[in-house]
Amino acid sequence: MTTFDVLTDAQRADLRARLEERKEQLLQELGAVQQRTLDAAAATARGDAEPAGSPRDQANQMARTMVYEAEAGRDHAELVAVRAALERLGDGSYGECTDCGQPVGLARLQAQPQAARCIVCQTLAEQR
Ligand SMILES: [Zn+2]
Repeated sequence: MTTFDVLTDAQRADLRARLEERKEQLLQELGAVQQRTLDAAAATARGDAEPAGSPRDQANQMARTMVYEAEAGRDHAELVAVRAALERLGDGSYGECTDCGQPVGLARLQAQPQAARCIVCQTLAEQR
């Protein structure tokens, strides 16, 4: 590993701050989704859910639910990645590819602080 590939303390602190901030954001978004789901479930349980609308309303409703679920899935996957990155910052392995051990690279980390793999391993993983 050359000195060029080693993150400075300042870079590390900056990336950690961004990861922490992103984690808070994701937790808030996921909390909002959860609340919406709970509200809907409570309304259904009370029997005063949505007054049965037109088929078009119902289709819109279903489409919205699917979008929420897709968003929640993405947020959740990102949260897992962000948490794992914070753990790697804690144990000192942050910035090394989790697959091959080579430096992930500063440019890649700055674009995506939660990146666990170098671009080569990431590309291979996405092809699997
Ligand atoms: Zn790699």
